Amino acid sequence: MREWLDEAVVLRMGHFREADLWLRLLCRGRGALTLFAFGASRSRRRFCGCLDVFNTLHCRVRVSSRGDFLNLEEAALLRGPRGLRADWRRMGLATNCLRFLEALGVDGEGAPESFALLEDLREMLEEGRAVPQLLALFFRLRLAGALGFAPNLGRCGVCGAEVGEQASFVVDEGLLICPRCRAARALAETRYCVDISRRGLDVLRAVQQSFPSAWPAEALPAAERRACARLIDGFVQYHLGLAWENGYFRRV
Ligand SMILES: [Zn+2]
Repeated sequence: MREWLDEAVVLRMGHFREADLWLRLLCRGRGALTLFAFGASRSRRRFCGCLDVFNTLHCRVRVSSRGDFLNLEEAALLRGPRGLRADWRRMGLATNCLRFLEALGVDGEGAPESFALLEDLREMLEEGRAVPQLLALFFRLRLAGALGFAPNLGRCGVCGAEVGEQASFVVDEGLLICPRCRAARALAETRYCVDISRRGLDVLRAVQQSFPSAWPAEALPAAERRACARLIDGFVQYHLGLAWENGYFRRV
């Protein structure tokens, strides 16, 4: 197939010659891809001025004759941020989420759900209502789930007991354990644990099972918030190999 059509969200873009652009897109049917748009800075007819970060486009893409690159032939705006670009704080949150998705990569299989997540995130940020304090971290946990990396946060991963008031997440094993199973372990095996209450786990499970617009936005007590953040950070670093550093995700 030399040509295809798809919907795509713009993750990032830049110039590589005076009039030409490269774009990193999340395509609904194909996942995250890099494309080139030749003459994009000049051609309003082919691109309607719609090439911008976080826009959703309808794209016509041609595969180069040698099959070594993808050429964006035409694009039209389907949906995009309206007031969001003027809100630097919310746009910063959006950018953090887009960067994470880009760093993690999305294959064809995970593409439809990841695409839906981004679109819902944009709507939610656009609406102007309260945003969860841990939004960027919630997004990492949720996207990991869409790509098949979802820790079970409902039951003890050793004995299968339902989570009580308190549990521990063994970061290096990606495993939740109950206090009894934790007590039965040697101290050395519980070094990479995050202690977390049922309340924190309830929030994280709600995040895993829904889209951003339904994520709980009410503030968690500081201790719960820290535990949730440490759990997600640890999981992402240990199992997805990504850490956020100086404005970029670094492979660890
Ligand atoms: Zn147990």
